[in-house]
Amino acid sequence: MEGASSLLDAEAVADLVLLDPLTEESLVQTLQERFRRHDIYTYIGNVVISVNPYRSLPIYTPEKVEEYHNCSFFAVKPHIYAIADDAYRSLRDRDRDQCILITGESGAGKTEASKLVMSYVAAVSSKGEEVNKVKEQLLQSNPVLEAFGNAKTVRNDNSSRFVSDLGTGLAPCWGWEHGGDGDMGSGAASPTGTPFPDPAPLPQGKYMDVEFDFKGEPLGGVISNYLLEKSRIVRHVKGERNFHIFYQLLAGASPQLLRRSTPRGVGDLEVEEELGRGFWLNCHLLSPQPEQLKLRQDCRHYGYLNRESSSLPGMDDAANFHAMQDAMRVIGFSPAEVTELLQVTAVVLKLGNVQLSSSFQASGMEACSITEPQELREICELIGLEPGTLEQALCSRTVKARDETVLTTLTVPQGYYGRDALAKNIYSRLFDWLVNRINSSIQVKSDEQRKVMGVLDIYGFEIFQDNGFEQFIINYCNEKLQQIFILMTLKEEQEEYVRESTSGILAMLDEECLRPGVVNEDTFLTKLNQLLATHKHYESKETQNARRVTDASLPPRCFRIHHYAGKVTYNVTGFIEKNNDLLFRDLSQAMWAARHALLRSLFPEGDPQKVSLKLPPTAGFQFKSSVAMLMKNLYSKNPNYIRCIKPNDTKSAMVFTPELVLAQVRYLGLLENVRVRRAGYAFRQLYGPFLQRYKMLNPRTWPRWDGGDREGAEVLLAGLAFPAEELAFGHTKIFIRSPRTLFDLERQRQE
Ligand code: ATP
Ligand code: MG
Repeated sequence: MEGASSLLDAEAVADLVLLDPLTEESLVQTLQERFRRHDIYTYIGNVVISVNPYRSLPIYTPEKVEEYHNCSFFAVKPHIYAIADDAYRSLRDRDRDQCILITGESGAGKTEASKLVMSYVAAVSSKGEEVNKVKEQLLQSNPVLEAFGNAKTVRNDNSSRFVSDLGTGLAPCWGWEHGGDGDMGSGAASPTGTPFPDPAPLPQGKYMDVEFDFKGEPLGGVISNYLLEKSRIVRHVKGERNFHIFYQLLAGASPQLLRRSTPRGVGDLEVEEELGRGFWLNCHLLSPQPEQLKLRQDCRHYGYLNRESSSLPGMDDAANFHAMQDAMRVIGFSPAEVTELLQVTAVVLKLGNVQLSSSFQASGMEACSITEPQELREICELIGLEPGTLEQALCSRTVKARDETVLTTLTVPQGYYGRDALAKNIYSRLFDWLVNRINSSIQVKSDEQRKVMGVLDIYGFEIFQDNGFEQFIINYCNEKLQQIFILMTLKEEQEEYVRESTSGILAMLDEECLRPGVVNEDTFLTKLNQLLATHKHYESKETQNARRVTDASLPPRCFRIHHYAGKVTYNVTGFIEKNNDLLFRDLSQAMWAARHALLRSLFPEGDPQKVSLKLPPTAGFQFKSSVAMLMKNLYSKNPNYIRCIKPNDTKSAMVFTPELVLAQVRYLGLLENVRVRRAGYAFRQLYGPFLQRYKMLNPRTWPRWDGGDREGAEVLLAGLAFPAEELAFGHTKIFIRSPRTLFDLERQRQE
């Protein structure tokens, strides 16, 4: 980058508000220079930019915690602890609920940042036996959720692959009797099918509320119910892995736990220890010859693990398995619960090995059947089910026509579709169960008044070569987050962006999915083109033609949205199916028929007594409601921003690729952020709390000021002789231009 050398010698400012000259280049160069000096944190006012060092730096020690504890935000080097401290004190002393919004692309360090915030708050809040137990449980939820919810991707060896599903859940819509006619996707509505909605993979994010009492001691927390990136369970690209738990289990569990080959006897005590007595109880119920999880140790045996070599440098799956088990103990899982959880996990893995092939029936029709029954038998032993029941559910489906019930056979692709949908459903529902189970341990049991700190670790804006439903959903969420960012921080200075086109598109997708008759992606696109023909943030081949634009870069079957962060071209292929993903009712009924208590509880809609005619919510609808709920939740809190940046594409320690950083600086809107901050003021606060905080600096307002808050603040500041341009008095708030003035106030206060 040009001009780099001149800047490298210059002061690498800690707050970009002070950057001069202010350009994209100077901004990136400042970050680079600071990064070179191992200063990975930089401010824009009170927004923290964090650049992933990809190596452990000695900046998270107990001494550092001490240094930042009760520090004055602008008196110390930028650090994530400073923002955590500021938020925590504001919550404790000023009674304001906080949210910490952590954004950035995959591998930028969001999850690490969220853990640092949590551990900082745990370290500085008071200690006592009861409080420590709460803190331990809150912190230990991480290894458990990461085992089941994280996976190696091309971009991050420990990528979080779940999405916040804030309360919409699946539960209200068990059992759908409408739609589906034997085709996999949506199709002509006939009263025959009995599919179940299987939401598509959605963007990655997690939200956790930590709750405190009036003294600022943690009482507990609530983790939002996640939806998993389900497609990963049955399929992942080369170089990636399935969820960590599968590899952890195979690498970390003892041979006895995996597969018991000797009759019960010597060594059983240890196994019993490892599993807890509940296991034996369960096993005896399920199978006369208990054989733990019926798994082989070799990853390559399992189809869903891509049969690739599994181990990752720097990641010890076996050790993580034991850490996860310890974490479960701390949280309060009983040994029997752990066992059931692992059994269901094993079932998912084994389902991927159930092979189907086609055979000809007496009628001459081609149908699918199970080729190698061993795996199916073992699954059924694990879950306490007649193999015939599962086989029938995998190879055929019940179709109701008027008063008659007919069993129709499936084709082999339909059979595999059903098998994979079942595996995805079992695992994602198991994950929901896990989150609920953790919540039941950590939730606050008392009725006392609470203060809340929400931590949001959410995926950033995405533009790939090919963008589909997943990217659309991710970017929809980011559009909303950006909107809230502007509303909450920049409102006074800047016009709000309103880009409602994305919400509209999701609504139209739903309408298409629920409409009877022939529905496909082309009809969906046609509809978009009609309704958004004049929308200035929407483009497609048709709207371009109508506007007489020639643009070869927009392929057919695509539409383009002008997001705040850039233009993205989406291909409609897969939109309908992913929005509407289905599970045949025969499969949920088979699961409900199993004797395995946990598994069966995951499929309440399989209870034939509970057939509901209600239409299920689509993936898009659920997501939209989740995002709306999230926004409402965030909007009620004081926001603190951590913007994470990934400095290189190779996960290399201390390597900084300016081009890559520039792209992120652009879509995080950092330059604009600095500009607005500069034009406006670094700090603003309501007169009341401001006066409370600083009134001791002037004998006229200390110890008491009897007049109005605004006059009080004016009198207070008049005595402090700041330059006039440093201050502005709004209707309800005081504005301070530079962080230095604020720092000065804080310093005087501390003196
Ligand atoms: P995803 O969206 O894929 O979940 P993410 O933004 O949550 O990605 P992390 O998992 O937090 O990314 O970080 C990726 C890796 O980067 C970590 O596993 C760790 O090795 C490294 N890393 C992140 N932050 C730090 C840090 N502050 N210090 C040292 N290493 C870090
Ligand atoms: Mg993550």
